[in-house]
Amino acid sequence: MKRWWWLLAFLMLVPALAQTEKPLLVGGTVLTAEYPGGFGVSYVEARPFAQALGLMYWASDGEVILGLGSRRLRFVVTPVPRSKTALKKLVVSESPPALRRGERVLLPVRYTARAFGALYSGSETSLKVLLPDAEMQGFEHRVIGGRDVVVLRTSRDVNALRDGAGWWLLGLRAGESVRDVPGLYLSRVRFAPGEYGTRVYLDGSEGWPVDVAYFPGEVRFYVGPPAERRAEDPPLVVIDPGHGGTDVGARYGNLFEKDLTLKVAREAAARLRRMGYRVELTRDRDEQVSVYARTQWAARADVFVSLHVAGSEVVSPGPALYTYANVGADAPVFVAHARKLLARPGYPEVLARYARPARSVSALADRFEYELGRLGLTPRRGETPLYLLSYAPGAAVLFEMGALRDAGDRARLADPAQQSAYAQVIARAVDAYLRGGR
Ligand SMILES: [Zn+2]
Repeated sequence: MKRWWWLLAFLMLVPALAQTEKPLLVGGTVLTAEYPGGFGVSYVEARPFAQALGLMYWASDGEVILGLGSRRLRFVVTPVPRSKTALKKLVVSESPPALRRGERVLLPVRYTARAFGALYSGSETSLKVLLPDAEMQGFEHRVIGGRDVVVLRTSRDVNALRDGAGWWLLGLRAGESVRDVPGLYLSRVRFAPGEYGTRVYLDGSEGWPVDVAYFPGEVRFYVGPPAERRAEDPPLVVIDPGHGGTDVGARYGNLFEKDLTLKVAREAAARLRRMGYRVELTRDRDEQVSVYARTQWAARADVFVSLHVAGSEVVSPGPALYTYANVGADAPVFVAHARKLLARPGYPEVLARYARPARSVSALADRFEYELGRLGLTPRRGETPLYLLSYAPGAAVLFEMGALRDAGDRARLADPAQQSAYAQVIARAVDAYLRGGR
């Protein structure tokens, strides 16, 4: 009985102690945990936290995505509500949102740590988050579809970062070793332990395309030109109808973004097929498709078009075109260690995986703009580091067809004739782009 009372007193004391800021230790980095509203839920500034944990970090206006190998965690960024009750409801919920406080974006520490399998511990005076080192658990070489495939199995997901002649597997602990690989392109695979993880060298891959794919607990390197693509094959156009299933996207009354994107995508696909292109949809029915699956589609496409409709977050009405061509200042952010690597001279290829001929993207968006102009519409254009687009090696555009909260846009989006017109815009723009080359 007495113990029970002590526990109760302790539970009441904890929130009281948790009102102020505390140091947050992430590996060797000291950050500051804060407690919006004083509800005992710790938050930390997003970008430095992601860096310290070695996560990929992607931010656009309304969302933040973190990545570790095959794992993705997406946050909607919500301004800190004025009402304390509303704030409490958010921060104590099962999946707390990211909070925007002025210029800063804050992430819930414990929730984020758990999502990536990091250890979280707290005391009255400080918090700790630690991502355990990954251990190497398996190595395999196969030949699939005319390419060498190196499969590395790891005890947890890791990020692979291109580094000149090799790849850094960040946070991976592995001994120095050499594997002879009788491959189509590869002769051997070498592992060299380093300060931040393990470097992998794929001997024989020089001059050949190398793609990285992540699966749970696996990093795969695909070496050599993709075999499924023969010279005589027509280009592959992938259309990505945004949202689906329980993720309805923007909505207004009984108009759902997920339905509108699917309708237009299907018709655009039919038109492009009639034009002779290979076309795939990331979904052809009302189902949820993970961002990860969508990126896998994007990675194979010559042209990738993601379709969306804006909800209430958009201030100005009308269609918009978003592209992500530039790997400059706003490129995905890797760990602090990776930043050090980036700072070394002769290091432009680090983000080569995310780069593409800059002109190809703007050329595709130009074609969209031209076709929309024929409908009397002037799209807004934006350059934003969208996670999905960054995975497309070909030309990629996110086409936002209008804003549901705008009456004019809404009427257009709900009208089947206008939906057809949008499908035609897509088909013509893609066709013009592919005919015109880069
Ligand atoms: Zn959307």
